[in-house]
Formats: sequence, structure tokens, C-alpha cells
Amino acid sequence: MSDGKRFYITTAIDYANGAPHMGHAIEKIGADAMARYHRLRGEDVHFLMGMDEHGLKVLQSAHAAGVSPQAWVDDIAQQFTHVWDRLGISHDDFVRTTQARHRPAVEAMIRRIADAEDLYVGRYEGWYCVGCEAFKRDDELVRVDGVDAPRCPVHPKREVSWTEEENWFFRLSAYQDRLLELLNERPGFIQPEARLNEIRNVIEGGLEDISVSRSRLPWGIPWPGDEQHTVYVWLDALTNYLSAIGFPDERYRDHWPADVHVVGKDITRFHCIYWPAFLMSADIELPQSVWAHGFVTIGGGKMSKSEGVHVELNEAIDRHGPDALRYFLLREIPWNSDGEFSYDRFDERYASELADNFGNLASRSISMIERYRAGLVPAGEPTRLDEEIVGALLRYRAAMDGQMLHQGLAVALMLSSSANQYVDARAPWTQAKDPALAAELDTTLAALARCVAALGTLLQPFMPGKMAEVADRLGLERIAPLDEVATLDMTGRRVHRGEILFPKVR
Ligand SMILES: [Zn+2]
Repeated sequence: MSDGKRFYITTAIDYANGAPHMGHAIEKIGADAMARYHRLRGEDVHFLMGMDEHGLKVLQSAHAAGVSPQAWVDDIAQQFTHVWDRLGISHDDFVRTTQARHRPAVEAMIRRIADAEDLYVGRYEGWYCVGCEAFKRDDELVRVDGVDAPRCPVHPKREVSWTEEENWFFRLSAYQDRLLELLNERPGFIQPEARLNEIRNVIEGGLEDISVSRSRLPWGIPWPGDEQHTVYVWLDALTNYLSAIGFPDERYRDHWPADVHVVGKDITRFHCIYWPAFLMSADIELPQSVWAHGFVTIGGGKMSKSEGVHVELNEAIDRHGPDALRYFLLREIPWNSDGEFSYDRFDERYASELADNFGNLASRSISMIERYRAGLVPAGEPTRLDEEIVGALLRYRAAMDGQMLHQGLAVALMLSSSANQYVDARAPWTQAKDPALAAELDTTLAALARCVAALGTLLQPFMPGKMAEVADRLGLERIAPLDEVATLDMTGRRVHRGEILFPKVR
């Protein structure tokens, strides 16, 4: 039964510096599948996404485009929300760091951190990478042939700038022990485990205090009580997880602490070191966990959020429709590591798994109920297929509870293959020819209806649009929640075949 548990899930807010691409999309699609899975579990889900709209890089991009920074971020936000709509992303809220609700939260964070005496004015001298919006130590930079100044390894095409200014500093060094303690006491705080080990190494290597303001940057939140400074974009951006749920008003506790922050593995340092340290200092409860997904590579190259090869996202959606792209990305690319996107693999999986496997199963099951039983699902005895549904449910829940989305999909596909084998073994077209086998035929058709309905549930987090169609064709008002799947009675439902779910010809 539904326990009504609250589940607060967030994605990284995207930097308003360019159009959305595959690297952004996989994160939102994966987080959406997680959110939808928890809704199927009967939980009260709050799913937050948004845009990170301040910082020097945004200002530079707006200048280069000849528009005001606000006009620039408005346009980018519109591009992102448009593509999230196309992909069926089911976020409950969309926060933008230029919204009026955000600034008071950042100011309150800073006041609380100041009250803890973790802020001081210091002089900063060093390299700053605008690409990362981060200061870089010498050992974090690399030499590039033919260039005098060092370069950021993530942004080798950009110049890093030597910066000397008075800044506000946060005493990150004071949190080294407490952060290590956190990781020892709550190893699940950072998942998957490879990312935990990376962060542990960084902390054990020693933490230096960090600059949390920039001098005279005209596009950001003014530092409370010191208008010569603006708030460092990461302190500004990370606070979105609180501002969006009403912080500093006490109602933020309705959702906080977040159950999981879904982020790319390139920004774990900010989410697993800076963010918990800021929260500890501000005396705010820590999130339950951070899930760091990997990268989509294209043509063997890294697809980071800032550089890399672009497969045009809208073109990829157009290829076989939004649900097929959602399915392919989460099936092909393990949610706990990296994977490669290619149109060849996309076409291959679309044809063999969606069209020929699940699509075919749904289509022929429903057609036979129409042809042999006038479109009404008959009553039938439990079969070995029902046992397989129960087994698949257990494996699916284990995979999905552990955020292993690709494994959850693999379980669903195996069940679908199994059901297709069941059809071939039972040969209902032969059973239909012999009136003495009418009860056998009923059993076959009823089991198939239950199995397609079960698959509708298992696949719903991945392909919500297509599975709504499946529910409709099966005469269901909605896809069944997870705890009803094993006992689903389809008897008497009126089915209709509809158009081909996953047409092969484009
Ligand atoms: Zn950089």
C-alpha cells in the first residue's frame, strides 16, 4: 500500500550559457524516471529542476550576443523548458536563480554562515577559469603547446585570467574532519561508490578555504552588507535547492532534506564538499544523498556540459519520438557510469526491443483478444507467466531502489521476451481452432493481458507517453501502481488495438 512518504528529488540547475544538448538531457530523463518510479511506489514526490543564471560567463555570452543578460537568460530558459516539455519531463517546479524568490534564500544562507563565524575578508591572487566559474590552483592547470599562460584542462580553449582581489572567504578547511566523518557514518551520502572514493581522496588531500564572492561583478546577487561584492555563483546556485521550497521561511521543512540531488560526475566536488560544508555552517540538515551520473559520449568524445560534440537534441527526439529517446538513453548508457550515443545503436534498439519485442507483444496480445474474445479480456487460471511477473517485479524494484535504471529496463525487456516466448509456446491461434481448448485459450489471453499491463507499469517511468497509450488500449484508467501489479485482475476489460505503438518506417 502507499505509505505516502515524501520524496524530494532535484537535478543540477543548468548554466544559462548555451542551448540544451544530450549531456543535459540524459540527466533530466534519468531523474524523471526516478521521480516517476517513486510516484509509482505511491510516494509524495517533489521534483525540482531549474536554471543557474548568474556569473561572468553568462554576462560575457549576453554581451557577445548584443543583448541584456536578463534577455539572454530568459531566452535560454525558454529553450530548456521547451525541450523538457517535448521529452515529457514531469518536474513539479522550475527555479531560476534570477527569480525574486531566490535572492532572500542566498542572503539568509550567508547571514547564517556569517553567524557561525565562517566568513572573513581575504586577498585572493590566482587563476580563474570562467568556463568552470572557479579559482584554480597551479596544480589544477595544464600547459598547452604554443600558449604561454596555463589553461584549465576542462576548458583548454579558454584563457584563464590572473585575478587579484579582495574577496569573502569561507572556512572550508574547518570542515575537513566533519566531512570525512559524514562519509564514514553515511557512506550512502555519495553514490555510486566510485564517486564516494574520489571525494574521500580530495578531502583527505586537504581542503583550503574558498573564495565565495567576486569583486564588482555586475551580474549576480550583491553580497549582503558589502555591495562591492557579488555572491560566488556556486554558493548562489547550490542554494536553489532551498530557495525553491521556500527557505528561509520555515515551510522549506515540508520538503527538506532532499532525498537525492542528481548531478553530473563533473560537479561532485561542489555537491559533496562545498554544499554539505555550507549547510553544516548554516546549521541546516544535510540532504540524504547525491547521485552522480556519468557522461554521454558521442563519437568517442566526452560530452561535458560545456564543451564537446553536439548531436542536435531536437533531431534526436524527432528520430523515433521522445519516449524512444528516453528509453534508448537509459537503456544504452548505464546510469552509474558513462556510455556512448550513436544513431546506429539507437535505430537497432528501437527496432529490436521496442518495435519487435514489446511493441509486437502488446499488439498481438490485444489483437488476439479482439479476434477471439470480441475485445473482452477473459478470466483465466494463473500461469507460469504470472510467476515470471512476480519475479521480474522483485528484480525491478531492487534495481530501481538502487538507482540502477538500466538494470530496471533490462528486467522489463526480459519479461517482455519471456511473454513473447509464452505466446509462441502456447500458440493461441491453434487453441482458437479447437472449441475443446477454449479454457486454455482464455488462460493464455488473460495471462498476456496481465503481463502487458505489468510491463506498462515497469516501463512507465521510462516511456510515460507510450505507456499511457498502452493503459488506454488495455481498458485501464491509468497505469497500475507498483503494489497493485502482482494482483492485477484484467477480467472483463475492453481492449482495443489502436495504431502501431512503435512504427518501424520513419
Ligand atoms: Zn575550466
